[in-house]
Amino acid sequence: MRIILLGAPGAGKGTMAKLLEKMDGTVQISTGDILRSEVKDRTLLGKEAKSYIDRGDLVPDSVIMGIMERRLKKPDVQIGFSLDGFPRTIPQAEALDALLVKLNIRLDLVANLDVPRNVILDRLATRRTCSNPSCQEIYNLKSNPPATNGTCRKCGSPVSQREDETAEAIMKRLDVYDEKTAPLIGYYAKKGMLLTIQEMNTDDVANAIKEGIAIKK
Ligand code: AMP
Repeated sequence: MRIILLGAPGAGKGTMAKLLEKMDGTVQISTGDILRSEVKDRTLLGKEAKSYIDRGDLVPDSVIMGIMERRLKKPDVQIGFSLDGFPRTIPQAEALDALLVKLNIRLDLVANLDVPRNVILDRLATRRTCSNPSCQEIYNLKSNPPATNGTCRKCGSPVSQREDETAEAIMKRLDVYDEKTAPLIGYYAKKGMLLTIQEMNTDDVANAIKEGIAIKK
């Protein structure tokens, strides 16, 4: 499958992308994971992105499009992919349209994970992420806790709260979502590509995505 996962921070895009990867090899392409890995490695790109990420702002579109063009040219995308956290603005969506034409890739579906704000706030406050840049497994203190010593059950690295998950940065990220990313719902609805999913259970969301793709084919 070749899909976009759309939704506010905490809507479950990363969890869903990782589940789809386990289920059938669909490659998770998360701009947030790529950026955090660049920040950890202190690359030029990471240094440029860090201040935006820490205050909950969006990294400039030109930087993101450079990352995506390089990523979508890698051979593993042939298996299928889910775009997690990209596009996040109308200009990014327009640039993605042009990039997909250039690379001769056709998207199957845009899945809009529609989760109530109170659930999102609770999830973000209790979310923990593996600190290993090449793992970044997602945990939740209530529903999916890390190992009892606070380490990742997958790779054993320490699990911590992301720096952009302080109360202040979370509010900022949600405002940015409402202002810049939510308009993408209308953008993809007009193209007839949108499926809005209000399920909470991850297996139900995965099934809804698969059914949505089957119906569109
Ligand atoms: P995420 O892990 O998707 O919540 O992303 C974490 C942070 O990385 C965001 O708050 C932004 O600062 C940055 N970021 C991730 N993806 C994008 C994108 N497509 N456009 C701009 N900034 C992004």
